[in-house]
Amino acid sequence: MTVYNFCAGPAMLPVEVMKKAQQEFLDWQGLGVSVMEISHRSKPYLEMAAQCEASLRRLMNISDDFEVLFMHGGGRGHFSAVPLNLHQDDAPGVYIENGIWSVGATKEAEKFTQTHAVNIRADQDGQFDILPVEQWQIPENASYIHYCPNETIDGIEIFDVPKHPSAPIVADMSSNILSREINVDDFDLIYAGAQKNIGPSGLSIAIVRKSLLERKGLPRPAILDYAIAAQQQSMYNTPPTFAWYLAFEVFKYLESIGGVKAMEAHNKNKADILYNYIDGSNFYSNKVAKHCRSLMNVPFWLKDDSLNEKFLTEAEQNGLVALEGHRFVGGMRASIYNAMPIEGINALVSFMDKFAQENS
Ligand SMILES: *Cc1c(COP(=O)(O)O)cnc(C)c1O
Repeated sequence: MTVYNFCAGPAMLPVEVMKKAQQEFLDWQGLGVSVMEISHRSKPYLEMAAQCEASLRRLMNISDDFEVLFMHGGGRGHFSAVPLNLHQDDAPGVYIENGIWSVGATKEAEKFTQTHAVNIRADQDGQFDILPVEQWQIPENASYIHYCPNETIDGIEIFDVPKHPSAPIVADMSSNILSREINVDDFDLIYAGAQKNIGPSGLSIAIVRKSLLERKGLPRPAILDYAIAAQQQSMYNTPPTFAWYLAFEVFKYLESIGGVKAMEAHNKNKADILYNYIDGSNFYSNKVAKHCRSLMNVPFWLKDDSLNEKFLTEAEQNGLVALEGHRFVGGMRASIYNAMPIEGINALVSFMDKFAQENS
């Protein structure tokens, strides 16, 4: 039986990439050893690292105004790194809040710097909604503006990018990096944990405007220091070498299928099929307003919560795994990141339909 894995993270990776990694697991580039057994400062590894960065730069069209950093610490590592690196004078870090992860980022920053939270949720009648970007109450005085374009748990995605006359725009793209085309120049710092759209956990990526590296910030651990990471080509200490290698395989795969543009079309198609089915059904519902529905994480609720256990058990028997919603919002959640094939969506919709008929 084919298994489709809807896990929110760590998430499934492209089968093609996993097979390639398996093939060269014990012998990378004819060296007779695994890529995880060699020095990160060896020639073949350094070449791989340079090509990996070049591939990501092509995929996202990243200009020379930015450094691309491969770091430890996952998404949450950057929750700490952002205030520590970007704190400036007495201006607060401004945090746009629209769900569980963005609130988590504020909480972490409060330990280090003054924060100013801006709530943009506009829920009504049990429906999740957010204010349009023009209505966000962003203060003039800010060290930086932090927001989360894709709230992985709430299933809310923000498609517009906020602007500010002076403060840099920081985006936590842990769960939607590389899923659709963006203009990197609209941002000053983009970061992401790898385990949703990039590769295995243990690696994170930061795309940071070079001019930001001049900020003094606050005293901080060297491994969370963006300027040190940039100076040392992301090799101040031993990086997560295997995860980095696998990320490169994912980038190459993405380039081979037509890049982010092709992936965006694929993702929109997948999300459309699933949302259309849910909207047309009177057994399932999605509570997110249409203009801010995530292309990556689709939460849905059964008409009758008491059927949740049965739904999950039978889904699993049909090879559809990890559909349980996050405990904070309940219901179900299908995470349909880049690597999820259209067949997985079709299999899910067929199962949901059969389950609805049998249990109505
Ligand atoms: C998963 C996730 C994180 C946390 O990532 P870790 O690598 O577990 O620290 C942060 N932000 C968002 C939006 C996420 O989806």
